[in-house]
Amino acid sequence: MTYSIKHAAVIGSGVMGSGIAAHLANAGISVTMFDRVPDSLTDKEKKQGFTLEDRQVRNRLVSESKKKLLKQKPSPITSKKSLDLIRIANLEDDLALLSEADWIVEVIVENLEAKKELFKKVDTHRREGSLVTSNTSGISVDAMIADSSEDLQEHFLGTHFFNPPRYLKLLEVIPIEKTKAEVLSFMKTFGEDVLGKGVVEAKDTPNFIANRIGTYGLLVTVQEMEKQGLSVGEVDSVTGPLIGRPKSATFRTLDVVGIDTFYHVANNVYHHVSDPKEKAIFTVPDFLKQMIEKGWIGAKSGKGFYEKK
Ligand code: NAD
Repeated sequence: MTYSIKHAAVIGSGVMGSGIAAHLANAGISVTMFDRVPDSLTDKEKKQGFTLEDRQVRNRLVSESKKKLLKQKPSPITSKKSLDLIRIANLEDDLALLSEADWIVEVIVENLEAKKELFKKVDTHRREGSLVTSNTSGISVDAMIADSSEDLQEHFLGTHFFNPPRYLKLLEVIPIEKTKAEVLSFMKTFGEDVLGKGVVEAKDTPNFIANRIGTYGLLVTVQEMEKQGLSVGEVDSVTGPLIGRPKSATFRTLDVVGIDTFYHVANNVYHHVSDPKEKAIFTVPDFLKQMIEKGWIGAKSGKGFYEKK
């Protein structure tokens, strides 16, 4: 079978979903960007007389993400023309649209149960032979679709983009045992030739390759900061441009990634290692948990280590 991708469905319109949708649209691929239906109305919507059944409310998460694509800096999207290639849809009313997609990319919250639940719906609504991938940062891709149809398993793999997808070159591809060889080889070529990525094949181990190393580095830095009583600014300055690294070295990176997402990603390794020394390193410090409880989860909430002005 030969594969081609003209239309993609991106499920999840958060930090990464919107960035991936933009990157695909920049490459000329039309995209349907999905998100869940909000479970409450905003004060403004209440005043305007909307109900939860109104389509504008049901598509709020995706429509907000689409609008943000033009405002973000550095910009995820190259032109208004690319933006017009992205249409929005919600995960309750529009699931039938999944059958139009040549490639379905899952980009929802880093939680195995939520991903399994979603792939059941994907299995029901996708077209046989369509490609399906997950952008998980490090949850076992095999575990997500263990109960799915044979056809889905054969066309499934992890495609781990890095943040921001338009600018970071690395794409990890993670096949499972049942992934067809031609699906893996198509995705690698497509990633390199159409999406402009440097593709690295990784095994389905916790956090794959780059995040296993990256999470380790970030947590060790945070632990060292606490031990030495350093400030966020001090750490960012000595781990950033002064030593030839980008401004977004440590805490700025955490703000861009999302502190909630980082928490899930670090926890994933914590639960998979047994050596006490490794467990200690992958233990998320309490102050990060407290920031999440307060809703200070980084750039996406307007406040993390830095405030968004
Ligand atoms: P995010 O919090 O910005 O967005 C998550 C999206 O998932 C939201 O739009 C939310 O509405 C939706 N969602 C949440 N629960 C859901 C559910 N039960 N069903 C359907 N949709 C649901 O998160 P993100 O940073 O975009 O991360 C998404 C995925 O990409 C995660 O698997 C994450 O590990 C991975 N990832 C993140 C980064 C990063 O830097 N943030 C980098 C690479 C990979």
